[in-house]
Amino acid sequence: MIPFLDLQKINIRHEEAFKQEIDDLLKSGWFLLGDKLSEFERLFAQYCGVKYCVGVANGLDALILILEAYKEFGLMTTEDEVLVPANTYIASILAISKAGLKPILVEPRFDDYLIDPTKIEEKITNRTVAIMAVHLYGQVCDMNAINTIAQKYNLKVIEDSAQSHGAYYQNKRCGNLGDASGFSFYPGKNLGALGDGGAITTNDDALASVLKAYRNYGSNEKYHHKFKGINSRLDEMQAAFLTIKLKYLDDDNEKRRSIANTYLENIKNPTIILPIVNSSERHVWHLFVVRTKRRNLFQKYLLEKAVQTVVHYPIAPHRQEAFKEFINDTYPISEEIHDTVISLPISPVMMMDEVESIVKFVNLYS
Ligand SMILES: *Cc1c(COP(=O)(O)O)cnc(C)c1O
Repeated sequence: MIPFLDLQKINIRHEEAFKQEIDDLLKSGWFLLGDKLSEFERLFAQYCGVKYCVGVANGLDALILILEAYKEFGLMTTEDEVLVPANTYIASILAISKAGLKPILVEPRFDDYLIDPTKIEEKITNRTVAIMAVHLYGQVCDMNAINTIAQKYNLKVIEDSAQSHGAYYQNKRCGNLGDASGFSFYPGKNLGALGDGGAITTNDDALASVLKAYRNYGSNEKYHHKFKGINSRLDEMQAAFLTIKLKYLDDDNEKRRSIANTYLENIKNPTIILPIVNSSERHVWHLFVVRTKRRNLFQKYLLEKAVQTVVHYPIAPHRQEAFKEFINDTYPISEEIHDTVISLPISPVMMMDEVESIVKFVNLYS
């Protein structure tokens, strides 16, 4: 079986370094908000090219906390509207709801599955406060177009970089392309922890300072609580693991690119629609997503050939029971994407012969 993603194989590469960190941690006895976190925050900020990185417990919290911090500044208030692509992973939309704001869905483009900048302005009202740009599947959105609209209407731009660690857009990395960015280090992401983790990156001094308190009960000084914060910390162990893995992120992304290029150059099957790449450095291939009309048959066929695939994502957010407020809305492009997408295996530890046999099976499919 060619697994969709082999997390055992990905992480066992660092076994010795991980064990050393566990040893260090047991000796130190310091588990939260210590040197390991500061070191990772410094390195990840440097990697993204930003002034600040604030580690938090997961990617969902990262996005929620950005919005909560803006509410503390009085820049947003309950029921204000945040624009977000209709086909994103549910967490982007949940973050907006959980922060007490109103998600407004914008249709994506068919070809690259990213938010369509030409459909943003028609959704802007006098309650709109931000655009959440989701770099879905690993490819950076059209940030010039998005930032131009944001400037015109005085909106914040929040990147959801949970799937795009390390991707570039015109010489800047994601995490440095808007006002603030949320990252996830969920184990399956391009930079994954051995458990949950997340971070926020920003160049905004005031925002970073609020966030550092907010993730720790609203406190920067023990027993002094400036904000009604929460408990959402990236622990020392995960921070240490992430510091080890960060060194390999660019290499791993290059491996993903070479697998994606093999798929793109060699899959030739008229029933399978390949993804569009805007430019090579803009995509880090968190997922390799194709479209096909008879998705279930295709998935069954590949499984018979011992190739595991996954659907990202089978149900559109506006069709989820949790979001009854969208029940009367239709988003035809998003719906068709959700009905037809299927992800082929891609990861830094896949063998080229595995990739080639997948190409062969896909080309033989009819
Ligand atoms: C994974 C993901 C998140 C949430 O991250 P968690 O760490 O699982 O909370 C948010 N947005 C997108 C696009 C994601 O893929």
